[in-house]
Amino acid sequence: MNDAPKISNLAAIDAAHHLHPFSDMKQLNAKGTRIIERAEGVFIYDSTGKRYLDAFAGLWCVNVGYGRTSIAEAARRQMEELPYYNSFFGTTTPPATLLAQKIASHTGGKLNRIFFTNSGSEATDTWFRIARVYWKALGKPEKTEVIARKNGYHGSTVAGASLGGMKLMHEQGNLPIEGVHHIGQPYWYAEGGDLTPDEFGLKVARELEAKIDELGEDRVAAFVAEPIQGAGGVIIPPDTYWPKIARICKARNILLVSDEVICGFGRLGSWFGYQHFGIEPDLAPIAKGLSSGYLPIGGVMVSDRVADVMVNELGEFYHGFTYSGHPVCAAAALENIRIIEDEGLVERVRDDIGPYFAAAWKSLEDHEVVGQAESVGLMGAVQLAADKATRRRYSKPDDIGTLVRNHCVENGVILRATGDRMLASPALTISRSEVDQVVEKLRHALDHLRDTVTA
Ligand code: PMP
Repeated sequence: MNDAPKISNLAAIDAAHHLHPFSDMKQLNAKGTRIIERAEGVFIYDSTGKRYLDAFAGLWCVNVGYGRTSIAEAARRQMEELPYYNSFFGTTTPPATLLAQKIASHTGGKLNRIFFTNSGSEATDTWFRIARVYWKALGKPEKTEVIARKNGYHGSTVAGASLGGMKLMHEQGNLPIEGVHHIGQPYWYAEGGDLTPDEFGLKVARELEAKIDELGEDRVAAFVAEPIQGAGGVIIPPDTYWPKIARICKARNILLVSDEVICGFGRLGSWFGYQHFGIEPDLAPIAKGLSSGYLPIGGVMVSDRVADVMVNELGEFYHGFTYSGHPVCAAAALENIRIIEDEGLVERVRDDIGPYFAAAWKSLEDHEVVGQAESVGLMGAVQLAADKATRRRYSKPDDIGTLVRNHCVENGVILRATGDRMLASPALTISRSEVDQVVEKLRHALDHLRDTVTA
């Protein structure tokens, strides 16, 4: 418990001094910031004492749940022993090295090297440069173009926002940068038309082939996508999608990058999302669940194919962050992974709470305003629909999603809305009764939407 005296005017101080990420500051200041003061398990508490069930694990990241004192202890011990040292000039620290080994042990054998960053965005910038230097080191400096997806999310740095497929982000800051291209997303509900999901999965995967043809195979370095597109609305691809994408990357000799920032560390009931879909990436950025958000740390998992070139051909890689492999963050991440292992959280998601969540979530499909309710592991989306039979969507998707989201929050459950999709991504430790609470509160919010639109 924090015994520091409570500051009564925090909201006013916040409005005066704090610029928030992804926020319209005028609107936020008019409304006032919600101040979150403490948390335990899957619950967070605001400054009025109100409790919320956080069905979003912070920002898709608190995989082991809140209140893990052993992570605090590991960080404190490391801070006392060695708060900081870098890994630039021929040095390392024990936690950084051991964390790299530990992560590699869960990759399934082929991604054995880790480059550390502080965030998912930095991980994106890092693999983007690695992909280009890899081809250059192999004598193919013209292989520089990178293909990503519309509506994908890969971070907010210049490369991250460029690779992401968010139009509103591109409009701010003259993005994307040169050499970045986008193809369609496997969003069957909205874009699949009369095709079956499987047909549609193949159709959008073939867009990769077409884009490679358009750019020229000799100019394309890599393709990046999230195993399940997260911020873009938990877009779960049809079964045909990933195998086809993997075949194309292999046949056309371009690097496959699986953005594991959300899907990594158990969320889909596998250590990494690519394992769930049965594919083998060449590069895989990670963050979030790596430390369950207790301290900032990210990285890029590098396959032997790429690492061998980096180690043997490249010479110096002129890239790094002061805090790459920060020992305190690495110690926290190691303890976080120990918890995931010892509590069997990946298996729990795969065999127990994931299937339970899937059934509870799917039950929402009987609701009048729900077109589809899907999930993998503990990552779910409810697609709102104005007409279930024809898959017609509401004309103002953002307003509708916000209405449902706000109703949930007012009633003590934190969910996220992306347009007209309601998203859940709770801690891997969530109990069955807590899953029931989430689904029940969301059902009430859906009733509220139905009653509001009918009125
Ligand atoms: N990639 C994906 C798939 C993400 O979801 C995010 C963050 N939501 C990022 C990259 C960027 O991570 P960060 O916010 O830690 O920079």
